[in-house]
Amino acid sequence: MTRQTIIEHRFVDSAPDVLDDGVLYVSIRYATALHLCPCRCGSEVVTPISRKGWSLTFDGVSVTLHPSVGNWNYPCRSHYWIRLNRIEWAKDRSHDGPDRHQGSASAAGPTASGRQHQHLGSAVVNKVRRLAGTVRVWLRRHARR
Ligand SMILES: [Zn+2]
Repeated sequence: MTRQTIIEHRFVDSAPDVLDDGVLYVSIRYATALHLCPCRCGSEVVTPISRKGWSLTFDGVSVTLHPSVGNWNYPCRSHYWIRLNRIEWAKDRSHDGPDRHQGSASAAGPTASGRQHQHLGSAVVNKVRRLAGTVRVWLRRHARR
């Protein structure tokens, strides 16, 4: 499955029953845009065009959707921008979602490595203790002589 990088717009009165791949359906009447997720997972992505939702810009040739589209609710968790009929994929697609999730992911990093360091540390400490013990025994033996 290759991810789409181009989407064409189609102004419609209402949403068709079957959506075509790579088409952004725009209904001015219902102030809604609709498209199939460009990762080709088949999910229908509805982007209401409103002040609280998305804004759609039509420059006479191509459309731009703002802000980005994040399909956190779908298994693919695709995140992309639609700019001038192009799909621009977010780099951090593996992340679960917006900053909230990224924050927890980076928070898990130091904890995991911290645990690892602690583990390594105690191994070193044990080695040093054993060495120290050996030295002590050696010193005692020496002192007796
Ligand atoms: Zn998808």
